[in-house]
Amino acid sequence: MPGSFKTEAVVLRSIRFGEADRVLHLYTDDRGRVGAMAKGVRRVRSRLGGRLEPINRVRLVLHEGRGELCTVSQADTVCAHAALRDRRASLERASQACEAVLRLLDSNEPNRPAYNLLCNELSLLDAQPELATRAQALAFRLKLLLAAGFAPELASCAACGDAEHLGAFSPSAGGVVCAGCEAGSFPLDEDAHRFLVTALARPLAETPAAPVRALSQADRAIVETAEYHAHVRLRRVA
Ligand SMILES: [Zn+2]
Repeated sequence: MPGSFKTEAVVLRSIRFGEADRVLHLYTDDRGRVGAMAKGVRRVRSRLGGRLEPINRVRLVLHEGRGELCTVSQADTVCAHAALRDRRASLERASQACEAVLRLLDSNEPNRPAYNLLCNELSLLDAQPELATRAQALAFRLKLLLAAGFAPELASCAACGDAEHLGAFSPSAGGVVCAGCEAGSFPLDEDAHRFLVTALARPLAETPAAPVRALSQADRAIVETAEYHAHVRLRRVA
């Protein structure tokens, strides 16, 4: 039904369109993914333009027409995350976070936990330079998988339910597996298993550290879970 509505969103991606316009991929707090056209924003005098940069969190008035895309009629900044933009590592992590949301959450079903998680990650990266780490990026992705309904089984063997000898991870089984159920799995060291469990249990700001090898295994577990269950290809995080 055509009309205008208010929403809050993070700008995930912005693509040039025509002479002066942009197409925005937005993740909203109450409508999930929304695509919108921002008209004239590439003109020098556009007031909207600067507010609609990727990674910005904005309050919007959108007009819903008959087409697939809404049109932006008003935008106010909630948070521009200006500090993180000056730090390459933080900016890279913030872009990775937006990219993961772009890939994993593509429906217009509202998902408030996913929205809150993204906002939390961006404001942490903005406020605390030391959080721009691989461990932190993996913790974010793991929590995002949970919010999207694809969290891996970590407490017991995903195939037989056994709670011991969990030394491998099977994307097809959907989590950690025991020695008897290792077919199609890859090794998951105790360090990596502990990292996944702890990262999921703790707040983002308290992401545990882990050895490089453990982080690589955790990375693989997350990427392959997304691929197998959500049919989404995430890039590994370095
Ligand atoms: Zn088993």
